[in-house]
Formats: sequence, C-alpha cells, structure tokens
Amino acid sequence: MEQLLKNIKEAGASNAEVIEVKDITLRPEFRDACKQNSCGKYNTNWGCPPACGTIEDMMAQAQSYPYALVYQTVSLLEDSFDYEGMQEGKKYYNQVTDKVRELFDQKFPEKEPLFLNAGACKVCGRCAKLDEQPCRFPEKRTISMEAYGVDVSNLAKVSGMNYINGQNTVTYFGAILYR
Ligand code: SF4
Repeated sequence: MEQLLKNIKEAGASNAEVIEVKDITLRPEFRDACKQNSCGKYNTNWGCPPACGTIEDMMAQAQSYPYALVYQTVSLLEDSFDYEGMQEGKKYYNQVTDKVRELFDQKFPEKEPLFLNAGACKVCGRCAKLDEQPCRFPEKRTISMEAYGVDVSNLAKVSGMNYINGQNTVTYFGAILYR
C-alpha cells in the first residue's frame, strides 16, 4: 500500500493517505445539496442522486468497508473568479483519478474497490440516464461522494489534509473504499 500511495502521488495527486471508514462522517442531509442542483447533474447521471440509490442504502454500503484510500489534487487559479481555471482543475483531477483507478485495479483487484469521485460519472461522453437507458458500464461507473453523504471537509481533516489549500487554488478529493 505504501508503494501505491507513492505511485498515486507520482501520478499527480498532491496527497494520498489510508484511513478507516469508521472515521468518515456521512450525513444524509448532504443529499439536499444535490437536490439544489448547483452542479446541474441532478437526475441526469447514473452516478448521482436520485438514480444512484437511496442515501440509506449507500451509507450502509460505504460503512460495510473497513478502509479508505483518500487522495486530493490541488490546482492553481488566476484569481478566485477564474471559472476556466476551476474547470481545468477538474479536468486535471479526472485525469489523475483515471490513473489512480488503473493503479489500484492493477495492484489490488481482490480488494473489491468502491470508487467515490468528485462529481458525476464521466465514463461516457453522454450518460445513458439522459436517454433513460441502463448504465452502459456498471463495472466502471463512479459515484459522487455527495451521493454517499460524505462530509468532505471532515474527510480532509481525518486524512490529515487541507480542505482548502490557500488563496487562488482549487482542491478536489477522491476516495477508494476497499476490503
Ligand atoms: S458508465 Fe456511462 S452510462 Fe454509466 S453512469 Fe457512467 S457515464 Fe452514465
């Protein structure tokens, strides 16, 4: 696992740590933030509410895992209104996340990993949910952390990471739950 954490940092993550899932705070009310639809993905993606499953089922699923590998990416912005920079930061996070997933799958396929991401599943260009079709790649689907009710600022704290990494930066988190 130490080598994997090193490889994840080499792949572009600013930090990567292993924690116990029992230390992660899950809050059902975080689903309300999804309903506000500030990201525009509510009810448009199989990796997001309400299609991904009920909060009760998803919290129970997450809590059935003992360990979580948590990682973060930090990207620079020109200023706090740099929307393009935020989008670039998210693109960078998605690229790192693809590598993290590949690394974990190669090293520990037997650990039944569950991948929790920042935001909606992006495996397909257009999610099948938009056409009311079944998920095309259920084995590759990723689910947003908000959908599990993860308190991300608390996740940062228990992982020994900063939730915010200074002025003019944008930080994204990902987690792999495993057995
Ligand atoms: S794998 Fe494709 S169809 Fe399934 S949730 Fe992800 S984007 Fe949607």
